[in-house]
Amino acid sequence: MDDLYTLLERAETNSDYRHILERLRWFDGFQCPNCGWDQYYPIKTRGLRECKQCGLQVSPTSGTFLHKARNLRSWVRAILFFLQKDELSSVSIALMFNRSYATAWFMMHKIRFVLGQSLDHVFSTEQREFSCSTMRAALFKASSGDVLMRPAAEVLLEQDADNRADFNFEDFVRLQYFLISMLVVFQGVSRKYSQLYAFEFSLRRDRQFLDPLRLLGCFVRGSPLARSELKQYLAPYMIRL
Ligand SMILES: [Zn+2]
Repeated sequence: MDDLYTLLERAETNSDYRHILERLRWFDGFQCPNCGWDQYYPIKTRGLRECKQCGLQVSPTSGTFLHKARNLRSWVRAILFFLQKDELSSVSIALMFNRSYATAWFMMHKIRFVLGQSLDHVFSTEQREFSCSTMRAALFKASSGDVLMRPAAEVLLEQDADNRADFNFEDFVRLQYFLISMLVVFQGVSRKYSQLYAFEFSLRRDRQFLDPLRLLGCFVRGSPLARSELKQYLAPYMIRL
């Protein structure tokens, strides 16, 4: 595994990054996604592996969260930057990788989504659930144009005493930090995507424990995440922090 850190540090091209993802995906051996066979022929020129039993040609990203991602360099760098920088907006990702704002926005949400799905796998920290109604000041519906312009301090004072009583001190602090972060960094977020931002908040909170290769490994697992899956994302009533 040690040499993978070196490779990651020196990686420049898409094929360098493909090689790293290949190692991460099959670090404990190849398995054909079609028939489960563990023997393959390497097709080095195209960075593929061909199953010796059924002949399926598999790329390191096929069937994973990075399925059909063409620019692996941008993806891997965006994933790593995502956690290294304190505030990383879709605009800065768009400028950094010369992508459109819409593409950058989608990349950021997908990164939040995938890492969020993997939280239990990445952390030992216990996640708690909080009702969205206690966070209404920081979570608004983007479609309604109800953009919150009031200072964070004023909003936080509004958190009613009834809700406070339900939390222990640690929960209360966790919730307040989340609200401040949503208000100060994002000027409030759409409730629909609040869980994704909560995932990001949790990841940043514990980022000193995060291992870059382990995080990248999350992206070469699981099923492909279609654009539609994020579009269908519904506003939650409870969010995990
Ligand atoms: Zn096969």
